[in-house]
Amino acid sequence: MQQLSQDIKQWGRELGFQQIGITDTDLSRYEKRFLDWLALGLHGKMEYMEKHGIKRSRPAELIPGTIRIISARMDYLPPNTDIEKVLQTPGKGYISRYALGRDYHRLMRKRLEKLAQKIHAAIGESGYRVFCDSAPVLEKPIAEKAGLGWIGKHTNLINSKAGSWFFLGEIYTDLPLPADEPITKSHCGSCTACIDICPTQAIIGPYQLNAQRCISYLTIELRESIPLELRPLIGNRIYGCDDCQIVCPWNKFAKHTREQDFYPRQHLLAPELIELFSWTEDEFLQKTEGSAIRRIGHECWLRNIAVALGNAPYSAAAVHALRERLHHPSALVREHVLWALDQLCR
Ligand code: SF4
Ligand code: SF4
Repeated sequence: MQQLSQDIKQWGRELGFQQIGITDTDLSRYEKRFLDWLALGLHGKMEYMEKHGIKRSRPAELIPGTIRIISARMDYLPPNTDIEKVLQTPGKGYISRYALGRDYHRLMRKRLEKLAQKIHAAIGESGYRVFCDSAPVLEKPIAEKAGLGWIGKHTNLINSKAGSWFFLGEIYTDLPLPADEPITKSHCGSCTACIDICPTQAIIGPYQLNAQRCISYLTIELRESIPLELRPLIGNRIYGCDDCQIVCPWNKFAKHTREQDFYPRQHLLAPELIELFSWTEDEFLQKTEGSAIRRIGHECWLRNIAVALGNAPYSAAAVHALRERLHHPSALVREHVLWALDQLCR
């Protein structure tokens, strides 16, 4: 099994993963923290987090027979994405850097599937299941246990040689592979940069995220009205937020992705809010085809852009664009448009 474990890591690199780690299924150390987080309601309306109960922290209850988990990470940060420039230009919309290219779920799952098939071909009968952000899996604790990094105070995984701009995926397996050395210590030290920079104070303490305040949750997960008091804090972030990663000193070690699929579509890199707001639903579906952004739908897309327009300085063009949407069939859109007009015209 020692040789197989080394082969898996080599195959993983050949398939484009930057690192592979292996762990057992004992996540008891993380279970209480996760259940406490749910009990406090910090997951907001992400009801899927509650579903499946403790199957999330007990992998063998989710997939019977699982005794090891292969955890894989893949860098996604594209080069030259002008992060600060876009964030500091209120007329432009900021899209989280992971969502600028093709939807990562498909690519990650395909590669994990290929890796699992190679293992299967090498040793014959074995049971496995691949995951990427798709099932009740505690992916960050699993990655920490598999030695891929530590969970930082912002609650993302950080690798000391590669920062935090990477995706995670898992293979649950019934093979008794040797487990890697877990990372048991945070290297955040006395740093609090992510906590201090967070625009909505969503990091309510070290290693504790109130998802209900997080801009990623508000612009992607939430399908309802964005709380009034948080709207001005969202700025021009129209799909996700990267501030806590941008400020993290460990990201000076981040590497750019080698995957062309994660390279930005030019019309999403530094887009004008007014232009994005003018897209019809058909245009939205066409321009976001194959992108993770499509998942939020045109209605929430307009909702998010209306908030960003309301946070931008006054311009006659912005007011005109907003007025054009005053009779949109969606009450959600109309309400955010009215809010934005009120912000600009008060
Ligand atoms: S993603 Fe943005 S809003 Fe969410 S915790 Fe990080 S800095 Fe705060
Ligand atoms: S910004 Fe500082 S505290 Fe936050 S995750 Fe990075 S190192 Fe840790």
